[in-house]
Amino acid sequence: MDKERLIDRIEGFLQEAELKPIRIMEVCGTHTQAISKSGIRYLLPNQVKLLSGPGCPVCVTNEAYIDMAIDLISQENVILATFGDMLKVTGSTSCLAEKKTNNVYTVYSPEDAVDLALKHQDKTVIFLAVGFETTAPIIAATIKNVFENGPTNLLFLTSLKRMEPVIRLILNEDKKRIDGLILPGHVAAVLGAEAFRFVTDEFKIPSVVCGFEAKDMAEGIHLLLDQITGRTPLSFANLYDRCVSPGGNKLAQQYINEVFEVKDGIWRGIGKVHNSALMINQKYKRLDATHKFTLSEKMYPESSHCQCSEIILGMKSPFECHLFGEGCTTEHPLGPCMISSEGACAIHYRYGRVHNCLAK
Ligand code: SF4
Repeated sequence: MDKERLIDRIEGFLQEAELKPIRIMEVCGTHTQAISKSGIRYLLPNQVKLLSGPGCPVCVTNEAYIDMAIDLISQENVILATFGDMLKVTGSTSCLAEKKTNNVYTVYSPEDAVDLALKHQDKTVIFLAVGFETTAPIIAATIKNVFENGPTNLLFLTSLKRMEPVIRLILNEDKKRIDGLILPGHVAAVLGAEAFRFVTDEFKIPSVVCGFEAKDMAEGIHLLLDQITGRTPLSFANLYDRCVSPGGNKLAQQYINEVFEVKDGIWRGIGKVHNSALMINQKYKRLDATHKFTLSEKMYPESSHCQCSEIILGMKSPFECHLFGEGCTTEHPLGPCMISSEGACAIHYRYGRVHNCLAK
C-alpha cells in the first residue's frame, strides 16, 4: 500500500478513536529527515504529533567537547580533522569556524583522517570522532588499524554515545509523554532489533524498527497508531528486516567491544547519562587525545534562549521554540538542533518551507 493510502487509513480510524493527542517519537535524525522530506509529518491528522528524539550526534555533543577541540587547535603542530557539521557547533564561548585557523580540516570519514596524518607526518592529527553505535564500529576499526600499523601521528578525540541509556532516560522521565517509539534503524542494524525490545516489554508502549523510505515510515506509524488506539494488541516489531537482523552485525559489535569501554557520558541539553558513552579503553589509550593532552569534559548550564534540550527530550517540537524561523534559521542558527543537517530544527525549517508548512 502506498504512503497516501496509508495516511488515509490512519485518518479514517483516528476519527473513530477518542480525540486525545498522540505523541510518537522518532529517535533517529535520519528518520526525522525522512518523515519531513516525504511530507508525512504534514499529511498526518493534527491529533498525531511526531516528536524528534536525541538521535542527532552533533546536537548532543557537549559544549566542553567543543572547548577541548578549540584548546587543541591552539597547540603547536596540531591539525584537527572533523566532519563539517561540527564546525559551527558552539562550545562555552565560540565554535571552531569562528577561530578561522588553517589547521582545521573537514573530512568525510575516519580514513580521510588517516590520509591527512600520512600527508602531515611532522604534525599530530586529531580526529574528532562523534556519533552513535552506527559510526562507532568504523571508528573502532580505524583505531585498531592505526594502533597496529600506524600512522603514529594520528589521535582520536571521541564523543561516541549509546542509544539505549538515553531512550531509557526519556521513557523513565515521564511515562505518559510518549505513546509510541520509532526506533533508530541504523543503530538497530549494528546492535540488532532485539536490543530494543525492552521499550515495549518494560515500558509497555508500542515500538517499531523501520526503514527510511516514505512507505517504511508510513507503515511504521500506521502500526504504532493501530496499537495506541487499541485496534491491535501491544507489540514490538521489526519492519526493517531487509537490513536489521534480530542479533545485528556481530563483526561491528566485536570492533566496538574490542576498542571501547562503557562509561557515563555527558549529553548536551541532557547532562550526565549513566553508561551512555563509548570511550577508548586502556589497551588503545595511547591513541586517545585526552590521554596525551590531559583534557577533560565538563558540564555547562544550558543557554536560556535555545530550547534544544526540550526538543531532543521530546518535550517540545521545534515549532514551539519562539526563535524558530525568526531569530534562528539555518542561515543564522542559534542552537545545535539548527546547525546540524540531522538536527530537528534544521529539518523542520528546511522541509517546512518546502511543504509550505512551518507549524504543526
Ligand atoms: Fe534552539 Fe534555534 Fe531550535 Fe530554538 S529553533 S531550539 S533556538 S536551535
